[in-house]
Amino acid sequence: MTIDLASRRTELVGLRERMLQAATDIVADDEGGESNSPAGDQQLADHATDLVDRELDHSLGENAENVVGEIDAAIARIDEGTYGTCAKCGAVIPEERLDAIPYAILCLDDKRLQEHG
Ligand SMILES: [Zn+2]
Repeated sequence: MTIDLASRRTELVGLRERMLQAATDIVADDEGGESNSPAGDQQLADHATDLVDRELDHSLGENAENVVGEIDAAIARIDEGTYGTCAKCGAVIPEERLDAIPYAILCLDDKRLQEHG
């Protein structure tokens, strides 16, 4: 199995920028508040959509920093030459898992252990 590390790294750097941008946008939104929204007939409908967006933004915001940390760790592992192996037990991480979560640094078993204590 050969992982194309260069393209994987590019993918991770791009993903990292998107997550940082998402986190920044959320902070800017929170600081802006509602007061400077222009009034109009469209506003009620927009507001409903806005609430849904905010729900999504909120959970993304909570996760964004964690994900950026994981992406940093994954990029560091590419540079170290250990990308694609579990940071904990050293098992090879299946490529399907890396395709789904390119910043995965733990095998599925260790990830589950970490999430459930
Ligand atoms: Zn493991």
